[in-house]
Amino acid sequence: MPSVLYSTNLRSPDVSLKDALLQGQAPDKGLYMPREIPRIPLDEIVGFRDKSYPEIAFAVLKRYTQGLIPDDGLIRLCAECYNYDVPLEKVYDRNYLMRLDQGPTASFKDFAARMMARMMRYFLAQEGAGHDRNSPGVSDRVPSRGELVILTATSGDTGSAVANAFHNVDGISMVVLFPMKEVSARQRKQMTTLGGNVTVIGVDGQFDDCQALVKRAFADPDLKRIRFSSANSINIGRLLPQAVYYLYAWARLQENNEAAIISVPSGNFGDICGGLIAREMGLPVSRYVIATNANDEFPKFVATGRYEKIVPSRVCISNAMNVGHPSNLPRLVALYGGAMDEQGKVTKEPDFAAMRRDIYSVSINDEETRQAIKNAWSRHKTMLEPHGAVGWAGLQKYLADEGQRDKGTKGQSADPSMPLCVSIETAHPAKFPEEIQRLLNVDPPLPPSLAGLDTKPEHYEKGPNEYGWFKDFLSRVFK
Ligand SMILES: *Cc1c(COP(=O)(O)O)cnc(C)c1O
Repeated sequence: MPSVLYSTNLRSPDVSLKDALLQGQAPDKGLYMPREIPRIPLDEIVGFRDKSYPEIAFAVLKRYTQGLIPDDGLIRLCAECYNYDVPLEKVYDRNYLMRLDQGPTASFKDFAARMMARMMRYFLAQEGAGHDRNSPGVSDRVPSRGELVILTATSGDTGSAVANAFHNVDGISMVVLFPMKEVSARQRKQMTTLGGNVTVIGVDGQFDDCQALVKRAFADPDLKRIRFSSANSINIGRLLPQAVYYLYAWARLQENNEAAIISVPSGNFGDICGGLIAREMGLPVSRYVIATNANDEFPKFVATGRYEKIVPSRVCISNAMNVGHPSNLPRLVALYGGAMDEQGKVTKEPDFAAMRRDIYSVSINDEETRQAIKNAWSRHKTMLEPHGAVGWAGLQKYLADEGQRDKGTKGQSADPSMPLCVSIETAHPAKFPEEIQRLLNVDPPLPPSLAGLDTKPEHYEKGPNEYGWFKDFLSRVFK
């Protein structure tokens, strides 16, 4: 049966995966979620042990794309998206690190952005946009009217992952706005060296200003003839592919079908929602550790049942997680039977007892983050970066705290009783060379994806923080 999706605000009609993907947000400003989450039998998940990453991605995603994308097409998309390593690194005992940093922009956002871009291309081609749906769709054409224009504001990793994912995708153009002074040189170059169908604008303002310009353009009746879409993490296409690596990690590492403890460093909660969906699909997980930086609105929500966003969000070294009001929270609340609107108002209480049983949420400050980077290096020769270090520190806290209780009478750290633990490393340490150098006195080696970046030519517009200018620009480029 084809997937049907509903809006978490419960005031928009149900849609197909195709419509949810192309629309992004529901008309009632809610987030699309599958009405039913398909289950994968445990023996099939165990069998993922012997499958490649693209094969697992196919086995998981086909359960959502049935009736929309034929199997052979989806197999091709998975092979195209996941042509890089997904290392599982043993740190000590049964504690592992899953490194999601081998994609083209060296953050976990590549996993979903690449699949979303290709699914969008596929659905557009199906609509008869005049492109061969089987062609890889590589071209350097100037964008023209009638195509989908992905408009996005970024403060760092999202922009590069999404721009890279849509680069040279036929039938789609991409416009990225970034705050000139808030993005590192390496982050900027990951966007500005692409060219082709990717237009990059450095705005003389802050991230919030960029976001505001994008929102005005979306709502501007004068620009109605341009078919805009968004690619931020509210798009369900940015979510479902993130269920895959949880299933992959467990299948590779489990020994007796035991339930795992998985720690996820979280900002907008897209990553963890992928994990929670994987569990609904049948993945044995006893606990998710949800680790935030000093933006602790979620740990407080779990503890007290009261939600208060943090405005403005607190600035931490794990900058991709500086989020005071996670945009995917309504999805998490929905998974626990509740309802939360886009403003963060809880209109129906989720099952807090179940949430507290499944989730251990903890806030890690910058000092603890830096300490975790140092300890992992000195004790285990494991190199973390600030985001992964938040997840790692969260896991250590859990093991020191609740882990003692979970272990019950099995005795002091007798190794066979050690639970399987996986902590997610969301970016490559080489994206944060200054911090790592200062803490560890080593230069993180560049992954191939970042090598050569420093010398590539850059192309980008510089614009004032003025809507008039931005509107003019869009009207000129997409006439
Ligand atoms: C975006 C990002 C996160 C946060 O992920 P969410 O899905 O927003 O919770 C964590 N680490 C890195 C490196 C990121 O880029």
